[in-house]
Amino acid sequence: MGRPAWDEYFLNMAGLVATRSTCPRRQVGAVLVRDQRVVATGYNGSPRGQPHCSDVGCLMVDGHCKRTVHAEMNALLQCAFYGAVSSGGEMFCTDFPCLDCAKAMVQAGVRAVIYRDSYPDPHSRATLTAAGVALRGPGEDRGAIEGGEGDGGSQPG
Ligand SMILES: [Zn+2]
Ligand SMILES: [Zn+2]
Repeated sequence: MGRPAWDEYFLNMAGLVATRSTCPRRQVGAVLVRDQRVVATGYNGSPRGQPHCSDVGCLMVDGHCKRTVHAEMNALLQCAFYGAVSSGGEMFCTDFPCLDCAKAMVQAGVRAVIYRDSYPDPHSRATLTAAGVALRGPGEDRGAIEGGEGDGGSQPG
């Protein structure tokens, strides 16, 4: 019985969160973590009080469903809703974030994005790296997801 490394642990959690998504086109999950503690979670779904894609169909604009609030954005907005701190957090995502979510994460002080599936968005990547946000995932040169036992320490910066 293997004990998962922290990255694996929180990515698995993001996958579980994604199963609550209400958009049939893509189920995305995100978990915001600070000091190995879950601060907030989010999945892509309609704003409060709005109908779900799963009930009324997607709202398609230029080939994308625009009905939902994205998973990463929902995790940040959950911080706003409940008064939690996002700054210095790490966002664990099932998918590589889009540009809008990348910009929001930069402004919210997220310092690392760890993702499972690569979704090529050069603008999003450039925005994150320009802000010094660390990236870990299958699309990164240095591969990846942290393995082994975590020591609980955090990187400076
Ligand atoms: Zn949809
Ligand atoms: Zn997004």
